[in-house]
Amino acid sequence: MAKPLRVMKFGGTSMGDAECIARSAKIVVEGARDASVVVVVSAMSGVTNRLIASAARAQAGESEAGPELMAALRQQHETALETLIGKNGQRWQVQEQIEAILTEARRLYDGTALLRELSPRTLDSISSLGERLSAPVFSATLAAMGVRSECVEATRLIVTDSYHGGAEPLADLTRENSEKCLRPMLQDGVVPVVTGFIGSSQSGELTTLGRGGSDYSATILGAALAADEVIIWTDVNGVLTADPRQVKDARTIPEISYREAAELAFFGAKVLHPKTLNAVVAAKIPVWIRNSFSPEHPGTKITPQGRSNGGGVKALTAIADVSLISVGGPGIVGVPDVVGRTFSTTAEVRANVLLISQSSSQNDICFAVATPDAERTVTALRKEFAKDLANQKVEHITLDHEIAIVAVVGENMRGTRGMAGRTFSALGREDVNIIAIAQGSSECNISFVVEGKDMKAALEATHREFGLGATAAK
Ligand code: ADP
Ligand code: ASP
Ligand code: MG
Repeated sequence: MAKPLRVMKFGGTSMGDAECIARSAKIVVEGARDASVVVVVSAMSGVTNRLIASAARAQAGESEAGPELMAALRQQHETALETLIGKNGQRWQVQEQIEAILTEARRLYDGTALLRELSPRTLDSISSLGERLSAPVFSATLAAMGVRSECVEATRLIVTDSYHGGAEPLADLTRENSEKCLRPMLQDGVVPVVTGFIGSSQSGELTTLGRGGSDYSATILGAALAADEVIIWTDVNGVLTADPRQVKDARTIPEISYREAAELAFFGAKVLHPKTLNAVVAAKIPVWIRNSFSPEHPGTKITPQGRSNGGGVKALTAIADVSLISVGGPGIVGVPDVVGRTFSTTAEVRANVLLISQSSSQNDICFAVATPDAERTVTALRKEFAKDLANQKVEHITLDHEIAIVAVVGENMRGTRGMAGRTFSALGREDVNIIAIAQGSSECNISFVVEGKDMKAALEATHREFGLGATAAK
């Protein structure tokens, strides 16, 4: 019987330093005993943030930003390499690869500082450097542990549209490339180590899939190769009932549906990139979230149907980095199509709208967007409604950064009465003021806007109310 095929993705923390990389590589070595394995890696922890911050400094004309970071990255990767594979193995070969990537990086930063210009295309090339540096280190580590491995840049595999910073994969072309490049390696018992986060447009320009996008790379490749499973190795024991950094009592959910996991990811659960499950819906491939620091823990299995936990609510999530935009005033009843114009404007500026709420008297439409999208959305709206603002048909277009969205998620909430009531009574008891509420017609989530300072209290109160915690009587 053919061996099963597993795609294993290791995130930034699982690639944090030599010790973490060794721990992750050991998981692959063990996994490769009874399965064919494709590895997808992220950049070492924090590297992508530093690459982007230095790009902004270079754009401001600081010519030292690039070289300073390159020196630090050279040291960081070479130290890891020395610890992981000593003086033998592929060390010199990998050092050469690292140097070649750093030379390319240097050119990108020099160009940016010189022109004081940072196009989305250049930013993609810069942000991709972390994965391009970490993948050869991981692959050489596997080789040093006795597993044949080859490093593959995802630009050879994942074909995307040309939307820089958040590109969408083209499944057929990606499948063709993956079959051509990865299948022969797998048949030969080689473990490919692929750079996460990165793709290439049809015209050959490097693109990225959006921040945190290595999760998506893993499912894209899983679908392309019709894998049996995708395993996302991270730093927590699976998908928990809430972000453990916010709610101490949060516990692992053994099985959750695609739909619920996607909803959590959309509303800010960082454990999964929001588009991750899109790639595997058609093929129904199970996706596991597991902890590379505790590989003995089974983690969470994400399946098409999930499994009921008996109650209606599965998990909570929250996003702090959001802003509330409100368009309104008593006069807007008389302005035709305010709603239509508002949301065609958000679509034009590609703002990600997370929640919409309209007051019944139609005096006010408010919606939440990711904070990085907020200023340009408001500018575009003021332009769209310039005439109406001048004659006071639209009284205000305002922006509030001091908010957070909290979402209560669970497929079984559909048909279970009283969920919204219990949520809001629990918040009332904690004196949390609710600014806006939205419930999708799917009834898979109730989301509400609170003041940023109340986010943690709102999460804790709801978590307690629905008995989601580790200490809750089950
Ligand atoms: P990686 O580097 O492996 O991609 P991330 O930092 O992107 O890892 O995602 C893992 C983090 O997601 C966890 O450390 C945790 O704080 C956060 N997180 C937020 N919500 C949840 C949740 N519901 N379950 C598990 N982790 C969550
Ligand atoms: N390194 C990329 C980021 O930090 C992609 C990822 O880690 O998933 O966004
Ligand atoms: Mg991540």
